[in-house]
Amino acid sequence: MITKARKVADYKQLTKELPTLRYVDPERVYINLQSDRCKNYTIDVEKGDKVKLGQIMGERDGGFFKQPIYSTISGEVEGFTKKMHPSGIEVECVIIRNDFNDEYHENITDRPESVIEKMSKKEIVEVIRRTATVGLGGSGFPSYIKLDTDKDIHTVVINAVECEPYLSSDYRLIKDSPDEIFKGLKYIMQAVDAEKGVIAVKKTKTELIEVLEREIERYRNLNIRIAKLDDYYPQGWENETFKNALGIKIPAGTLPMEYGVLGFNVSTTSAIFEALKHNLPITKRHLTVNGDAINFPQNIRVRVGTCVKDLIKLSDGYKKDAKLIDLIVGGPMMGTSMPHDDVVVVPTTTSVLVFESQEFEEEPCVRCGSCIYSCPVEIQPVNIMNAFKRNDKKALEDLEVNKCIECGLCAYVCTSKIHLTDYMRKGKKLLG
Ligand code: SF4
Ligand code: SF4
Repeated sequence: MITKARKVADYKQLTKELPTLRYVDPERVYINLQSDRCKNYTIDVEKGDKVKLGQIMGERDGGFFKQPIYSTISGEVEGFTKKMHPSGIEVECVIIRNDFNDEYHENITDRPESVIEKMSKKEIVEVIRRTATVGLGGSGFPSYIKLDTDKDIHTVVINAVECEPYLSSDYRLIKDSPDEIFKGLKYIMQAVDAEKGVIAVKKTKTELIEVLEREIERYRNLNIRIAKLDDYYPQGWENETFKNALGIKIPAGTLPMEYGVLGFNVSTTSAIFEALKHNLPITKRHLTVNGDAINFPQNIRVRVGTCVKDLIKLSDGYKKDAKLIDLIVGGPMMGTSMPHDDVVVVPTTTSVLVFESQEFEEEPCVRCGSCIYSCPVEIQPVNIMNAFKRNDKKALEDLEVNKCIECGLCAYVCTSKIHLTDYMRKGKKLLG
């Protein structure tokens, strides 16, 4: 029987109404010098150097962009080591021992609203570049490149859909600090001279809509509205959000800015607010620790560079009766499985999920067609898997594997429990 999966259980109730824990004092942070986007770097500090919070320590090189590397605590450089990055690769990190003084670097200074209001696009873009602000929803794409577009932008969309199950950190961020989100949106609209702002949220998140509707009253002079969207997966995929919030269908392979729109997720908007208001780089982020094998699921505001192991301890550890543990960084649909918890938190780490392992035996495909029917980009997962197994690059191209957004729906719906999304990733890699 064909199953069209568009509804996935959200499992957010355990964490979304709990206050966010502020964890500011890890003994050490491990700041990644490399990332999945940046293989090369230069470093200007050495063992024994004292650093302040928000101090530049070097620069990552992403080929078409460079990105300052910041210290996220004050303390002493203890040395260098390799740690696992949430993308699943080992990266070089600088170790900083915390002095628990939170001594800010001199560059971290407040900018009055009256000054921000007069900033030009060029000045805003430069602040966002210098503070290394990137897409915090997972993409890690430098936000300054998006803002520096020469296209006419009519609408900025803040994506508050957070459609991955178990994740509720964006939800909490809006509930706790709605003003930051509205101000961040205002600054983005100012930078790209957009006439309209839209905050897209699932219509089922009624408490959040109440908060947003209260806050919107304070921004009546701006043309901002709330788009209440249906609750299905992957509603938070940018193109789906644009289609439903604006009625604009963006073809695969086309950038939203070609259609006069730009999208930012909630955490990125908050980071843009902090960059402009306080000249702060991304030194911390909100993330969710959740899953059936952790003792105390919660949202935590952590310093970038904190070790996932520390977050597990902070959440009362793994459940003792859990037999085998699956650790995922990112959402359950799109995240990456980790072989252990010695993983560093980077700006794009949205969550740490811990599940009791389920032993799934993959069974042969029964040609039910559910994966094809469910795919939001209308490609054919089962045929792509078969093409990959045959090492048939031509077929992979013809089947447009590169359109895959790795949403995980095909694997979720597969009656034979085949890890189809893994095949999509491998197929893309094979094409290079
Ligand atoms: S993971 Fe890729 S192939 Fe599978 S449903 Fe999502 S977009 Fe389609
Ligand atoms: S791969 Fe899975 S979902 Fe797709 S046709 Fe085969 S059994 Fe059905």
